[in-house]
Amino acid sequence: MSSFLRALLLLALVVATAPVSGVTLHPDMRNQLDASAFEYWIADKPLSRDEILAHGDALPWQPVGRKTINFKLQENPVWVRFPLRNGQSESAQWLLLVPWIMLAHVDMHVLNSDGTWREPLHAGYRVERENLPVNFRMPVFPLQLAPGEEATVYLRAYSKAVLFIPLLMKTPQQFRTYENTTNIAYGMGFGVLLAMMLYNLSLFIFVRDRTYLVYSLYVLTIIFYMLAVTGFGSRYAWSDWAWLRANAYSLSAEISFLVAVLFGRLFLRLHRYGGWFLRLNTFMLVYWALAILCNLAGWIVFLTYTANLMALLTCVIGLVTAIILMRRGDRSARYFTIAWSFIILGTFFAILMTYGAVPFNALTENVQMTGFVLELLLLSLALADRINRTREQRVQAQQQALAAMQALSDERSEKLAVQAQAMAMQQRHTEELELRVLDRTAELERAMKNLELANRELAKLSVTDPLTKLHNRRYFDETLQAELSRAVRTSQSLALIFVDIDHFKSINDTYGHLVGDECLKLVASTIRQVVTRSTDLVARYGGEEFAVVLPATPEKDALEVANRIRVAIEKVNFIHAGKRVLLSASLGVAARNPTSFDTPNRFITAADEALYRAKESGRNRVIVAEQANTG
Ligand code: GH3
Ligand code: MG
Ligand code: MG
Repeated sequence: MSSFLRALLLLALVVATAPVSGVTLHPDMRNQLDASAFEYWIADKPLSRDEILAHGDALPWQPVGRKTINFKLQENPVWVRFPLRNGQSESAQWLLLVPWIMLAHVDMHVLNSDGTWREPLHAGYRVERENLPVNFRMPVFPLQLAPGEEATVYLRAYSKAVLFIPLLMKTPQQFRTYENTTNIAYGMGFGVLLAMMLYNLSLFIFVRDRTYLVYSLYVLTIIFYMLAVTGFGSRYAWSDWAWLRANAYSLSAEISFLVAVLFGRLFLRLHRYGGWFLRLNTFMLVYWALAILCNLAGWIVFLTYTANLMALLTCVIGLVTAIILMRRGDRSARYFTIAWSFIILGTFFAILMTYGAVPFNALTENVQMTGFVLELLLLSLALADRINRTREQRVQAQQQALAAMQALSDERSEKLAVQAQAMAMQQRHTEELELRVLDRTAELERAMKNLELANRELAKLSVTDPLTKLHNRRYFDETLQAELSRAVRTSQSLALIFVDIDHFKSINDTYGHLVGDECLKLVASTIRQVVTRSTDLVARYGGEEFAVVLPATPEKDALEVANRIRVAIEKVNFIHAGKRVLLSASLGVAARNPTSFDTPNRFITAADEALYRAKESGRNRVIVAEQANTG
């Protein structure tokens, strides 16, 4: 990606011309050698070093004229020569560094002042590790000069790409420091990149967002690119793989671009915007995929004329897209813009360095790596920020769901409460109703009991004579009928006695009706006292007449009872107005074993007749009905 920008810079660089002068070796010369005074010859014909020496000034040697040796793409190797002198008082070991990995071959030939050649040394990515003079990730040549000794260095360089030949001269001590410093710096850089890759890979595993996977892949391709561009890859990772040593730089750059474009697409969510953003992105994706295929297939021509332009375009389009989206308020685009600026700035500085605009030292050499680390750190932060935002959104959504659920549950419990209230009310109503029903039932029972009592009373009343409290005529009729039937059934004797008070009319007339009533009551209780058997019945037949029914009583016994009644009434001590009122009664008795032809009337008539005869024959006596009458 840097070649095109480098070419642009080349035009901008001031072409400085300086007098041809050699390099005087001293320990303080740390920076890049100033190549302005060096001479170069593009080897349009393949000459050996001796032939070159033999041709002398006949060959078109040109001064480099610039601080840094930098030619555009050359088909032929380039020779560079410069004189060298040991300015120290003692013999010294030096190391000539060519810190650029894109050189297929770099050969160093040293011509001694006496015109003899030293043993040639070979480096460059085409050279196998075991044939290198110093096993380092970039070409390094050892150089020994005696005190004050002078020599001329002839460098032959060949590259398939743009020819860039930075030169550094270091003492072994300085070289070790440089090696350590860069190792630590790159080690840290690679460590950070690796950690970020693994971190985001684990994020992908947990979060399942493809962006993290592509980000991890992007970091991996940057690691690949950095391994290639620093030479670590060729010397350590794929030192035995000649093809990759030659192509790792371009391949890793192309893969990095492809994955960077894909990452930008996902990270900026270009599908949401569509239009030119998406179309340009797709176009670049296709281009870089094709570029990778061409590289693998060896069609370098296609790449030679397009890759640099497309690299620049990719950078510019990526940055412009991010800036436009950022101005539209896209938060991810803000991060992307800053991150992308870091990497462009880092690359820009690296290019400046390769042209000698800034000094080549540990700081500037690592500027691109620093750019990548910063870019990737920022993008990692952006992704973390996105996780955070996503989580916040999720938490918010959860809270909303929770609130909705709460509201729903509130509503439900309210409904339940209302239902419970309604149920309680219903329960209370039911209970009240039940109580009322119970009350009513009790009332009803009470009423029924009262009614029954009343009925019983009524029934009793209906068969009781109110004045004497004896059974009345109705009851007498029923009882006589029942006892008659029973007597027929049991073949027992049934007796009926009629009692009629003598001359009662005159009592009424003499003392008044009320006294008559008292008299009736007295007679009634007197008869009751005489008739004691529970089965016997004493009833008021009507007026001052009483009837006595004696079940299972033969005539003889009935006569005895009748006499006892007559005697008891005679003995009643009824006092009125200080005078005893004499009382007597006449009785008629009818007694027999009734047959099924008997009727109550016949019994009554028989007793009545006997009573009539008792009245006829002088009153205060008992007459038994004749059997002829009773039968
Ligand atoms: P005898 O000896 O012939 O039976 O004479 P007597 O006066 O008893 O005969 P009678 O049958 O003519 O009279 C019955 C009287 O009894 C007539 C009536 O005024 C009276 N009497 C009937 N029922 C009652 C009653 O409930 N109270 C009172 N005080 N008098 C009654
Ligand atoms: Mg009478
Ligand atoms: Mg009478």
